[in-house]
This record gives sequence, structure tokens and C-alpha cells, in this order.
Amino acid sequence: MSSAAAVKVDGVWKFYGDYPALRNVNLVAEPGSCLALIGRNGAGKTTLLRTIAGFSRAGKGKIEIFGGATRDPETRRSMGFIGHGISVYDELSALENLLLYGRLYQLPDPRASALHWLERTGLDRVKHGLVREFSRGMRQRLAVARAFLHEPRVLLLDEPFTALDDRAIAVLQTLLREALTGGKTIVMSTHQLREALELATHVALLNRGQVAFHGPCTAEMVADPGWVYARYGEG
Ligand code: ATP
Repeated sequence: MSSAAAVKVDGVWKFYGDYPALRNVNLVAEPGSCLALIGRNGAGKTTLLRTIAGFSRAGKGKIEIFGGATRDPETRRSMGFIGHGISVYDELSALENLLLYGRLYQLPDPRASALHWLERTGLDRVKHGLVREFSRGMRQRLAVARAFLHEPRVLLLDEPFTALDDRAIAVLQTLLREALTGGKTIVMSTHQLREALELATHVALLNRGQVAFHGPCTAEMVADPGWVYARYGEG
């Protein structure tokens, strides 16, 4: 299985009622690559990420993570998700949240992992604070810590830079860069093209549920984040 793609989306359709939010989507992310999913509001980015994560079921088609089915428990453990659907518990402290997830993931030393990621996300000083009292940015940092906690091989990130201040954006970019260097695979949706294109090795543009462009991230795109839209968008 080592030659399998990290993420393979094969002819995927997703319907809400009879509305096709994803229409025959084919995408591949190789191990160690970073795929930026771009597209206008409602293009289907969140739906696609949630379907890859196994939270939502494809109506047609198939998704594989390193050759495994998304609903397979081992496959689930290999993914980390940041997005709207996944939250942290308000009535627990930051540390308690991570300890809880660390135990769920059956980490060998949940406390050490929790403290490590609290430190990496700049939350060590507030680790005993209740999440209920956290700002949006602090919650987002905790969501980042949670996603990295179990050292997943594939990171699925839905608008990860939203709600982060500039310093937290820099922290997340460093973590993501390290993840890529360590051979992990990232698929992220974003409106913040500039931040995303600094990391992306590949770009996919979704247009009303269809892939309008999928290819390597080029110097033209980095120089002008609007380039892909101008060339392949709806105009
Ligand atoms: P945004 O950038 O605004 O988050 P997106 O590209 O992530 O947009 P999706 O949220 O995946 O797009 O939505 C794709 C389409 O599916 C939209 O037309 C949306 O209205 C519709 N949709 C999404 N979730 C549901 C749902 N639970 N029930 C019905 N329709 C939905």
C-alpha cells in the first residue's frame, strides 16, 4: 500500500436533496504534497473536505486515504481535521480538551502530547483556562493543536487561517511547513490565497461542485493569487 496516493477522490458526487454539491470530482494528493482547494462561496470546498474526512458520505464515487476506506477506524486515525463541524468543549480547559482527545486516540502519553501541542500553538500560558472564556483566535489555535495531537498523516483543513491573527497565521504556517517536511499530506480549503499558496504544491479550483483546474502550484500563481480564477474561473 506504500505506493497508494495519500488522498484519492474518484468520481465523487454529493447530493443535498437533488442538488449536486459535488459533481464527479476527481482529485489526487500524493504523500508529502499540499493541495489548496480554492473556489467561490458555495463551490463545494467544505463539502469535499467533510466527505474526504468521512463525516459526510459520497452519493457516488469513492474516496481512499492511503488505499483505505474513509470509514475504516485506522484510516480515521490517520486524519486530522480543522473545520467548522469540529469543535472543542467549552466547559473544559484547553489541556482537558486535548487530554480527552489524546485518550480517545489512545496516545501512549496523552499528557506529554497535549502539553507539547499547547506549547507549539502558544496556548501553554492559558492551558488551564476554560475554553468558554477563549477568544475566537484562541479556540482556533486549540483546534489546530487538536488536529495535530495524534500526529496524523493527512491534515484536512477547512479555512484554517480564518479567525487567526497575524502571529497565529505565522505559527500555523510554520507547523504546516514542518508537517510537509516530515512527509505529511495537507488538503486545505481557503479564501486566503496568499497564505495558502506559500505552502501549496498543488491547486484545485472548484466551480459549482466541479473541478475546473487541478495542477501544480506555479510561480505565476504565487506571484498573482488571482491568476487561477482569471484563467479557469467563471469570470
Ligand atoms: P464557502 O466558501 O462559503 O464555505 P464552500 O465552497 O465550502 O463554500 P459548501 O459549503 O461545500 O461550499 O457548499 C456547496 C453547496 O452545497 C452550496 O450551494 C451550499 O448551499 C450547499 N450545501 C452545503 N451544505 C448543505 C446542507 N447541509 N444542506 C443543503 N445544502 C448544502
